[in-house]
Order: sequence, then C-alpha cells, then structure tokens
Amino acid sequence: MYFVPDGTLQCGLYECDECGNRFLDTRIAPKIVCPYCGEEPNMEIGPDDEMPEVAETAKLLQVIEGEDVEKYETLLSLAVTGGDYEWI
Ligand SMILES: [Zn+2]
Repeated sequence: MYFVPDGTLQCGLYECDECGNRFLDTRIAPKIVCPYCGEEPNMEIGPDDEMPEVAETAKLLQVIEGEDVEKYETLLSLAVTGGDYEWI
C-alpha cells in the first residue's frame, strides 16, 4: 500500500478523529477528508437538494520531508498490513 508517489519530498502525516487511521497525503492542510471513512460528495443529488457536508475529520499531525517520507510510508504500510514481514 502506498500513500504518496515515489520521490515525494514533502507530505503531511494525518490522523483521523473518526476512524483513528493514520496516513500520508501529498496535500498539506490543517484538515482534510479522511480517505478511509470520509464520504465523497454524492453527485446524483438534484440541484435543489442541499449540498452534503463533507467532513474533514483527518487532522494534520506533522509535515514530513525528505527521506522521512519513505520511512513513514514504510512504517504506516506495515501497520496497515498488520506487520507481516514475510514478503521482505
Ligand atoms: Zn477516518
């Protein structure tokens, strides 16, 4: 599982208030929509319907730069897969 493209020099480490997942994203913002539990806006609603609120539940914990990007990505990927090292 990869969060950011190879060679990313700067990304944000986020933690979601709702589901508790931690992840990296190339966007740097105080809050973003969680990719795990965040809902994309429903495009099938009519023009008269209210726009659904998109909850930005993932908070920026830290900005990761340089070599640390790869380090964090490895750490988080292992956490996601349950720390299965057998494939190394
Ligand atoms: Zn979430």
